Amino acid sequence: MKLTFYGSAKEVTGSNIILEAAGKKVMIDCGLFQGSSATKAKNFDGFKYDIQEIDYVLLTHSHIDHSGRIPLLYKKGYKGSVICTKATKDLCDIMLLDSANIQESDTEYKNHKRQRAGLELLEPLYTIDDANNALRHFIAVQYHDLIKLDENITVKFIDSGHMLGSSSIIIFITENNKTSVVAFTSDLGKPNTPIINDPTVIKECDYLIMESTYGNKRHTVKEHPEELMFEIIEDTILKGGTVIIPSFSVGRTQEMIYAFNKNIALKKKFSIFSKIPVYIDSPLSTSATEVFMKNTQYFDDEAKQYILKGDNPLDFPNLVFTKSVEESKILNRDNSPKIIISSSGMCDAGRIRHHLKHNLYKEKTTVLFVGYQANGSLGRILADGAKSVKILGETIDVKARIEMIDGFSGHADMDDLDTYLAQMEKKPEKVFLVHGEEDQLYSFADRIKNKFDIDTVVPNNYSRYELQKGKKVYELAHDRVLTKNTYRKLTLLDLITDVKRQVKDVSELIAYDEINNLDEEQITTFIDLYSSMRKNIKNLVNEVEKKAKVGK
Ligand SMILES: [Zn+2]
Repeated sequence: MKLTFYGSAKEVTGSNIILEAAGKKVMIDCGLFQGSSATKAKNFDGFKYDIQEIDYVLLTHSHIDHSGRIPLLYKKGYKGSVICTKATKDLCDIMLLDSANIQESDTEYKNHKRQRAGLELLEPLYTIDDANNALRHFIAVQYHDLIKLDENITVKFIDSGHMLGSSSIIIFITENNKTSVVAFTSDLGKPNTPIINDPTVIKECDYLIMESTYGNKRHTVKEHPEELMFEIIEDTILKGGTVIIPSFSVGRTQEMIYAFNKNIALKKKFSIFSKIPVYIDSPLSTSATEVFMKNTQYFDDEAKQYILKGDNPLDFPNLVFTKSVEESKILNRDNSPKIIISSSGMCDAGRIRHHLKHNLYKEKTTVLFVGYQANGSLGRILADGAKSVKILGETIDVKARIEMIDGFSGHADMDDLDTYLAQMEKKPEKVFLVHGEEDQLYSFADRIKNKFDIDTVVPNNYSRYELQKGKKVYELAHDRVLTKNTYRKLTLLDLITDVKRQVKDVSELIAYDEINNLDEEQITTFIDLYSSMRKNIKNLVNEVEKKAKVGK
């Protein structure tokens, strides 16, 4: 039995794992790489395996970093099914089409420029037709069903409490009359997330692949994030400002609506809230909210009770769903206090960028982050305290109050992850940590080794492992790698490509005209960073020149 990681190893996007067992190849997730342009470029690198050999695709949840390359998989020749829960299937119906739409319009935009420059035109990663074709192959299953893929492989989906329909997947494999269990937590939610149930713990398995987004971080506001949110809103509104909440269209936005709706006591305490409009300004959020209301069987008891009382948990009197672009634009011409919830959650695309552009420079504005902000995203740059940012080609002064409430996070924090492992009835032989930034992964790995005495590894992308029950797990060279030397050569090639992209990114980071806007501290930081980069580049050039001389 072999396990290979093709994405989301030492990073948080591009989830893609292949398990080879009992003569079959089972893929778990096929997500899009998201974040910096270097990361996004990986989507165009092509799959590093033979797609024709994949027998099944299991999908843990609809978030694009887990599902977003499925249309590409079909475009490149995959003919099998995608197995997931019904809510995941329903959400993918809208999310993959939305993703295809973004791919098409991004390419169109780039091609306009390329055409003018006389450059070759690009093809979108995939089109709406590709997405529609993929969606025809989705098969919906229920939590806890035992799904027999063939006589030797059975799978089970259980609730991972991360978003509507999200799952951890347990795979039972029989080889040589022995059954082994491989399980993937996928993204784990935190307990008490509004609307959805708490994660169901995997009781036992031999090998556990676990997410680590907050492997070494604790959510600071655990108990009452809603109260803090209402406080910040009241404060801003009383000053006549607008509260902008960047939010993922699917999941977080519905949780926010529900959080606003159900807190009657808080609405009484902060009574101004009910007097101002709350705009949901994202077409995808609107359709996702409809999908939520079609899948109430996935709701937790509290939200179900709400419905039984005849109330809609995802609606309240001062809530407004904007539809057209025109309605969205009007929001920026109107200076009266309001709340705007818009996407994307990390501010890298979508209508949120327009709202930020029109409001960041105002002191009265508050930008309230309620979700994870990946490295390199505009959201992270703002959350880290940038004094000015570039949005839609314009430099915008940041005068707004920037707040971050991590109590709404869709991910378990370090305490939740420890509790999860503690609750497993039989501990796994080996844990593989994925879906996290490097510092989070290694500290979590150390903690697991010390606290639970479980052997834990942090794989790289393309790391491949041989799993044999009761035997030590060892890492294999990847398929495409013949010898250690070839492997090192390929690593070097990857590094060169990465650095090429990063240098291009970095050269666009600070425009000359922006230098005037830097403060003393920023100037020092950039001088330090740029000088050490210059030194490294010089060393690199020297080495390359030396090599060229030896070559002669
Ligand atoms: Zn997710």
